Amino acid sequence: MADKVIPPGSTIGILGGGQLGRMTALAAARLGYRALVYSPEADSIAGQVTAHVQGEYDDSAALARFAGRVDVITYEFENVPEATVGACERHKPVRPGVRPIHFAQHRLREKEFFRKAGLGTADYQPVGCAADLDKATALPGILKTCTEGYDGKGQIRVASKAELAAAWEKLGRRDCILEALVDFQCEVSAIVARGLDGETRCFPIGRNEHRDGILRTTTVPSGLPAATLKEAERLGVQLADSLELTGLVALEMFVTRDGRVLANEMAPRPHNSGHWTIDACATSQFEQLVRAICGLPLGAVDVLAPSRMANLIGEEADDWRRYLADPTARLHLYGKAKARPGRKMGHVTYVLPNASIPRS
Ligand code: AMP
Repeated sequence: MADKVIPPGSTIGILGGGQLGRMTALAAARLGYRALVYSPEADSIAGQVTAHVQGEYDDSAALARFAGRVDVITYEFENVPEATVGACERHKPVRPGVRPIHFAQHRLREKEFFRKAGLGTADYQPVGCAADLDKATALPGILKTCTEGYDGKGQIRVASKAELAAAWEKLGRRDCILEALVDFQCEVSAIVARGLDGETRCFPIGRNEHRDGILRTTTVPSGLPAATLKEAERLGVQLADSLELTGLVALEMFVTRDGRVLANEMAPRPHNSGHWTIDACATSQFEQLVRAICGLPLGAVDVLAPSRMANLIGEEADDWRRYLADPTARLHLYGKAKARPGRKMGHVTYVLPNASIPRS
């Protein structure tokens, strides 16, 4: 185990140049690591804070050069092609590796994996051909493309077989999954780190509020009963162990009105619903990722103060003066040049020591 430790002073390679890579690079720097970002854009926002190489994800020569300059490699988004991770693995350890993205990239595979790992999910069925439309029973439901959907994209709510057929046409007759609509009381997420030695640590469960399929806020403490939180944590840890990953995995879940906890989606990387940990937890999710992939001891996950993270989407980030003037607000801007509707431009974490967070 000790010989696998990648000590401070080493270089962490990051596939992907978005805000998650940016915040990982900042956490790495704090612990004395260098970070090198690999992404196709000439001007990535992660590259604003650390060294950056431009390269396509299918350029094996460029990937080999990148791997030659780093000691360990991670990724900041789960849609990095499996072949890219495979090409990197020939040169350096990639943590969490190719297995988690194999499942996370494909909604049907992901749900099947959850079930095999003993995690309950909404009822679902594949929709890949016209015959599947007739067999559909998971109604009312949500039809989702198996690949390339995020932040509510590639998803259509359907109440009847006729609506299902129209939705499948609209999604381009692609491979889809039909999921029964879950009547949930709230959504939560577990973010679990798993170290090189298999030790796991779950951050306190956050309660998430989505609008239009996009995460808007995460609140900790969640105000949910202890038994629900324990179950959510158990599912997160079970997922991390089943994936045998070294790194971080986020599991988004539904808490149903009758108190069951169902797995919805996973991401084997830092997650938007864990941003509160930067300002209100003993260890941030980004530092925890660095610790896990470098074989360092995992950090404490104690909550330092009640907090609520709110995403700044599109033009909301233009209000930065207001957040700066609020003594309870910690502002994080991602350095993105253009505010488009639905684009995550930054976030603000309200940290309220000695105060209780009002319910949203
Ligand atoms: P997803 O991309 O699967 O995370 O879905 C985005 C959001 O859509 C979720 O966070 C939920 O708010 C909602 N949603 C997705 N699937 C379901 C479902 N089966 N039942 C009810 N709401 C859902």
